[in-house]
Amino acid sequence: MRPSPIPENLGDGVWSVPVPIPGSPLGYTLVYALESAKGPVLVDAGWEHPDAWAALRGGLSTLGLDVTEVSGVVVTHYHPDHAGLAGRVREASGAWIAMHHADADIIRLFHDMVRDGTGHAVRLASARRAGAGDGDQVTHAGEQPDPPAVPDRELADGDLVDLPGRKLRVVWTPGHSPGHICLHLEDGDRIFTGDHVLPRITPHIGLYPYDLPDVDPLGDFLDSLERIEDIEAGEVLPAHQYRFNDLSGRAREIGAHHEERLVEVTGLLGDRPSTLWELAAAMKWRSPWEAMSSISRQMAAGEAAAHLRTLERRGVARRYDGDDPIRFVLR
Ligand SMILES: [Zn+2]
Ligand SMILES: [Zn+2]
Repeated sequence: MRPSPIPENLGDGVWSVPVPIPGSPLGYTLVYALESAKGPVLVDAGWEHPDAWAALRGGLSTLGLDVTEVSGVVVTHYHPDHAGLAGRVREASGAWIAMHHADADIIRLFHDMVRDGTGHAVRLASARRAGAGDGDQVTHAGEQPDPPAVPDRELADGDLVDLPGRKLRVVWTPGHSPGHICLHLEDGDRIFTGDHVLPRITPHIGLYPYDLPDVDPLGDFLDSLERIEDIEAGEVLPAHQYRFNDLSGRAREIGAHHEERLVEVTGLLGDRPSTLWELAAAMKWRSPWEAMSSISRQMAAGEAAAHLRTLERRGVARRYDGDDPIRFVLR
């Protein structure tokens, strides 16, 4: 067991502050602060909760930083353990909030749904999506946070984040969310990987908050892993767990894990035509299907659906005509 992390000065104007995710086995989000001529810029902000807010403010102050001086928050993706506190930082300091336009669209959609009176479902969906970890997802359904703050700035692949005197490049890595980004600190030989590449767990890959027939999040994720493999960065700074060095090795390992899962699903489809739920129940998970909560089962079914979608895209699986519910077979 590693000890719980503490706020750290990592050198070269980069700081790390662990911000707790109350009640979550994931433990904490690693919020990073980067020095800039206009004041520190945060990479992610943490879960919206009074204890998390106290830890962020307190952690920054032990490092000699004041939350009221923060000039911006760049969010790796819209999930509440990353974007949750961004709005509170903005209120305290007047900072801008930036994220990829695809995730900004989702946050606006959530706010629209809350206004339309379907907010409960949205809050639940947003709470569930805090997780990372392959069938062992982190859920916060009891907490039901409001949707994260709408950003002031939208980013696209290849953009430089507004960080005077430094070069922080946006690398679009869709998969875990449609607008997930990694941030390559080109002047510091470091990369912030959010939930895209974590040292010991894999992020949840489901069908996003909306299920469109033309989305293939797992296919996107595998492409995003290949993309990140080519980036040369000495140190990897993920949003959970701990820092590590071998970015391309870890990206290949996560890709291989999903290729094995695709083989597993293909094998199950070979036995007989199956519904999504039959497949999800037959796949191997960290805890047995019978022992899973209904939320864990839904997360697992989301993962199964993403793998099925990729197999359909690759021409390995197809839908069995005319069935209700839909059954899947090998092509
Ligand atoms: Zn996430
Ligand atoms: Zn996360």
